[in-house]
Amino acid sequence: MPASHGRNSLQPSRLSHAAGTAEPTCPRTLGPSGKRLPTPSPPTNRHLAAHRVAFFYELDRFTCPSSTRVSSGPASLPGRHNIHSPVDPGHQPLHPSRRPRYALLMAKLYFSFAAMNAGKSTLLLQAAYNYRERGMRPLLYTSALYATDGVGLISSRIGISEPAELYRAEDDLYLAIRDHTEAGKVDCVFVDEAQFLTPEQVWQLARVSDRLRIPVMCFGLRTDFRGKLFPGSAELLAIADVLREIRTICECGAKATMVVRQSPDGRVLVEGEQVSIEKSVYVSLCRKHWEEAVGRWPVLGP
Ligand SMILES: [Zn+2]
Repeated sequence: MPASHGRNSLQPSRLSHAAGTAEPTCPRTLGPSGKRLPTPSPPTNRHLAAHRVAFFYELDRFTCPSSTRVSSGPASLPGRHNIHSPVDPGHQPLHPSRRPRYALLMAKLYFSFAAMNAGKSTLLLQAAYNYRERGMRPLLYTSALYATDGVGLISSRIGISEPAELYRAEDDLYLAIRDHTEAGKVDCVFVDEAQFLTPEQVWQLARVSDRLRIPVMCFGLRTDFRGKLFPGSAELLAIADVLREIRTICECGAKATMVVRQSPDGRVLVEGEQVSIEKSVYVSLCRKHWEEAVGRWPVLGP
């Protein structure tokens, strides 16, 4: 497997081992004296499945379920039908001492953050579609601040949208999602506009991944138009298992990490409430041009 030495690789010797392609030149196959290490015993299907699952998770692919499910291998691979399920009815669980350690990492809390108009909702909807395409059930949430007539809708600028559950600041998302699982299996939870989560709700979502063993993927802005972290984003940056930056670019071509809020006549606003849900009044800029836009540069002397 060529990716075994890539920057995202996890335990290259194991991965190449899992793929069945030993690499004679790999220094990891040589002992301290330069002699070749003894070849390990052939892996079982259970080992192969565990390595595949770990590999795709560590790559942080939102399409990990589909990637795993379409990978080559016998259809009877353990956990193949649902790698997120804490209980796999297809086989007897391993004794804890023999259980692959990656089994404990099956559900994570993800935070994908970006400036405005980077395509967060598009990515969310695409990932949710991938789950549904495989016969799995994603659960979508968006902030009640975006509700239209009390109905939640996650919409992308490129014209796709999906209905979503609404969350309010006072909601307990752990209890709400647990109730959903009692009505039917939930394979993944997606949260749009995650910057509006309260810090406590971020912890509730962490419990969903830790205790309900359901992956939670949050998408949101990192900072507001003043350059300050949103409370929900700050908590996610603090405790999420996987952080992923979705890139967009400033008008100068550099990576845009900041947003400015503009009035309808194009003036840059430097004061106001943190929460404003009108996307059209935000522009993403790089840090350098953001400082200039909000009047922090050039610095005027006394
Ligand atoms: Zn710029």
